[in-house]
Amino acid sequence: MSGAVKGRGLLKATSLLWVGLAAVLVAYFLVWLLGSGGAGNPPPVDIDRHLDSHLVERAEAFRSDARLLSIASMLVGLILLGFLALYRGPLVRRPFDRLARRPVPGAALAGATISVLLVLARFPIDLMSFNLGRDYGLVTQDHAGWLTDLLIGTLITALLAALGAALAMWLWRKLKGRFWIAGSALVITYMVLFVWLWPVIVSPLFNSFRTLPEGSVRQEVIRLADQAGVGVGQVYVVDASRRSSTLNAYVNGIGSSKRVVIYDNAINELSKPELSALLAHELSHVSNHDLYRGLAFAILIVPLGALFVQLSTTALVRRREGEHDDLGTPMVIPTLALTIALVTMVLSVPGNVLSREIEDRADRSAVELTGNPTGLVDLQVRLARSNLADPDPPSFYQYLFGTHPTTLERIAEAEAVNSRKPR
Ligand SMILES: [Zn+2]
Repeated sequence: MSGAVKGRGLLKATSLLWVGLAAVLVAYFLVWLLGSGGAGNPPPVDIDRHLDSHLVERAEAFRSDARLLSIASMLVGLILLGFLALYRGPLVRRPFDRLARRPVPGAALAGATISVLLVLARFPIDLMSFNLGRDYGLVTQDHAGWLTDLLIGTLITALLAALGAALAMWLWRKLKGRFWIAGSALVITYMVLFVWLWPVIVSPLFNSFRTLPEGSVRQEVIRLADQAGVGVGQVYVVDASRRSSTLNAYVNGIGSSKRVVIYDNAINELSKPELSALLAHELSHVSNHDLYRGLAFAILIVPLGALFVQLSTTALVRRREGEHDDLGTPMVIPTLALTIALVTMVLSVPGNVLSREIEDRADRSAVELTGNPTGLVDLQVRLARSNLADPDPPSFYQYLFGTHPTTLERIAEAEAVNSRKPR
């Protein structure tokens, strides 16, 4: 067993603390390095000027319920993982002892089972979220369609969890104290493959994508892309209306899978200036290399995160070591899942700071590209209306989980770009 690790004294709680602190500090340093420095502190806008109070009340009612449900879902996941990682009664002990006979396949089975248990534990809350979306007219899908998606999603996740757990087990046993180095390489490879292949392999399982046909929208994409000086790769329309009434567009993929994807809803419902603002925002992501910024953040923070995962997993497994030595058996898998979930959760906070800066800059670039801030302001109002975005969510929630600036911030920024613009 990994006595060498113990010998080096890495297991001390202080080193755990230092590595954790270093990971968070490095993450914020990366935000500074890769981000855009945040918004230029635009003067606040008057909410009533853009959105009627009835709509704001409705959005706030919907979003506050949705927030509670998503926090509940997160807590249920953590509690389940915590239970599996820390409880050592026969209920958990017995099946894991059986898995320990063949550690690598055992770990695969443990990983898949844990991922399915997570789906089952969260099911009531996820169903409530789905129903909430339907009540507010945001979700157009029926229960059968939703369950099918859930089933396909669960299968994919279970498969990936099995593969990840088996690889982790193999590396953990082989490398002991150096697990985190190979683990980092594994996670980074996975992330690059994920970004590259997700749009080609997984997305088509859930939606159908067709090349944006010739016409005014396509011409506008090409015109804006030329102006921004970017190669867009492919441009697709996705049948998002199958599931929801929300309006959006996104860029994803790298290299040969690079693409701009526009929701059919957006094409059907947005006015020309609004659609141009949306397209310009997405093309700005391409010209600012935002996908690579996000990927670089993740790649650079993974090694410290992985070291923390290794140290905390070892400490937790050792905590109750007595008759059993669980290090090197599938018993490690739930603890690994718990520490990975916690580390991911903590590091996603600076990750979201970076994301908001990136989104803010894409908005500013979009206004420069279209020369029409009103289009972007109208788009924000339209998105708030159709997606029922809370225009001004609680600041702690926004700080922890917000991937975009709030609607009010985005409107303020668009108006400020206009006033700052030299004419
Ligand atoms: Zn964006």
